Parts: sequence; structure tokens; C-alpha cells
Amino acid sequence: MTSATPSIFTRIVAREIPAEIVFENERIIAFKDIAPQAPVHVLVVPKTEAYENVAQLAAGDPALLAEVVAVAQQLASEHSTGEFRLVFNSGPSAGQTVFHVHAHVLSGPITEGSLGF
Ligand code: 5GP
Repeated sequence: MTSATPSIFTRIVAREIPAEIVFENERIIAFKDIAPQAPVHVLVVPKTEAYENVAQLAAGDPALLAEVVAVAQQLASEHSTGEFRLVFNSGPSAGQTVFHVHAHVLSGPITEGSLGF
């Protein structure tokens, strides 16, 4: 779904809002979460605003979802041990606050119960 107002992540893609960008290609951008919940906490974001959540992305562009997962693995290997937790909050009651699909890549020592997810 698209809306008239660009999402905060689209504004990061456009460099209207600063972010610590760690990966970018034609279809995906990744940057450090502003409020990290683990030693490594990166958001991997399809640049398109067409999908609000991971189920929509899986149905609409499964290849792009697979690319998100591959980028998550690459970043976990570059920034940590290569082991990682991948979180897609889907819906407000699940903790989603930005309705532009994104994956949280969490890595480094992760303490159970410390994530708020
Ligand atoms: P959600 O709650 O929708 O699953 O995840 C949204 C995430 O975006 C949150 O973890 C939040 O900290 C992060 N976030 C929100 N605004 C910004 C921002 O302006 N810059 C960065 N780097 N992260 C943001």
C-alpha cells in the first residue's frame, strides 16, 4: 500500500533524514536502528513502499523477500558472527510502528527477554 506521505524509511533513502547506512543497492537499503536492541541491530528495507509487511512482500515479490534475507546474512557476517535473529513485526499489536516493510537483523550476544520484541 502506498500513502501520500513518504514513510520515514523512504525519507532515509532520499537522504532527507540521516542514517548510518551499511548497505545499498537498487532495490534495498540497510541502516543501523536508531534505538538498538542488540549489539548489532540493522534494518534491511526494500526501497519500495508497495508492501506494508512481510506477508504482503512474500505474496507480491518473493524474490525481493529472498534478497532481504540474503542481505541480512551478509550484514550479520560482516558486522558480527554470522549468526542472527531476523524479526518482521507485522501489525501494531505485534510492535510494528513503521508501515513500510523492514527486517530487523539482530546479532551479537542476544539475551533472552532483553529485546522487547
Ligand atoms: P517496527 O517497530 O516498525 O518493527 O520498527 C521500526 C524501527 O525503526 C524501530 O526499531 C525504530 O527504532 C526504528 N526507527 C524509527 N525511526 C528511525 C529513524 O529515523 N532512523 C533509524 N535509523 N531508525 C529508526
